[in-house]
Amino acid sequence: MDPDVNIESTYDSSSVFFCRVCSHGPLGASKYLFGHKSKKYIPLYKCNHCFSLFTNPREYTNRSENKFQWQGGIDYFLQRKDKTMRTVTRILNTLIGSNGGCGKKFLDIGCAIGISLIAAQQFGFEAHGVEPEIHIAQYAKNELKLNVRNALFDRNLFESNSFDFIMMNQVLEHVLNPKVFLADTITLLKPGGILFLSVPPADWLRLKLSNLTISKIRKLDLFYDPDEHVNYFFQKGIKLLVQGSTATFDGIYHPSKTRLFFYRIMHLTSGSYVIRKPYSI
Ligand SMILES: [Zn+2]
Repeated sequence: MDPDVNIESTYDSSSVFFCRVCSHGPLGASKYLFGHKSKKYIPLYKCNHCFSLFTNPREYTNRSENKFQWQGGIDYFLQRKDKTMRTVTRILNTLIGSNGGCGKKFLDIGCAIGISLIAAQQFGFEAHGVEPEIHIAQYAKNELKLNVRNALFDRNLFESNSFDFIMMNQVLEHVLNPKVFLADTITLLKPGGILFLSVPPADWLRLKLSNLTISKIRKLDLFYDPDEHVNYFFQKGIKLLVQGSTATFDGIYHPSKTRLFFYRIMHLTSGSYVIRKPYSI
């Protein structure tokens, strides 16, 4: 425990808690993170088997996965519109090629205002999205005329084996049962389909940086939002989650081949992964 942590403002870390990825446990609290929203010190649990790290908000709030609130407003997404378009276009170009979406279905889970759907439509996809925040989903539907459902993701929202490409960007770190969430997502993929999964990158270097002053730079701080990010996955954790499903782990994604090479030899990650559902299952 950090020496400057006031014990009165921390949470009980004695409760039994098992790894959400590999079920290893019980896990111990490895350190305490300060939650800027809750204004509390939050225990961080570490799995020594798969290196995943977790917080457990249910220990200290009445947080429920059925509640979703976004304070950032529509402007946050509009300001990033062009960048998001470029990013998704590059991903689709790399993984399916131009016109590779003709006659195929695309789904973005946690799609925000749906910019990825616009990019997917340009590749010929029939594009769908799910977004839990009501105002954001309404903007996507009413202003951008996109096929976005306002709901928390549930496999029953869509038919099994119905999507050729699913994107899930910065979602899995928020959910309390990532194993079920990922397996449910993969259920919706057609055989031969691709899941593009992106989570905040966690690796040995980022873990080291998080202990330094440099971690005050938000982009480099793995633990910048412990109130909301309840899971921190190393590549090994993502591989294990995929192994427990009907899909296969294809590798790390990064648009730069040089960076990808560097990541591989240094055992680092971009936090973006390509997962494929085999044809023969
Ligand atoms: Zn584990």
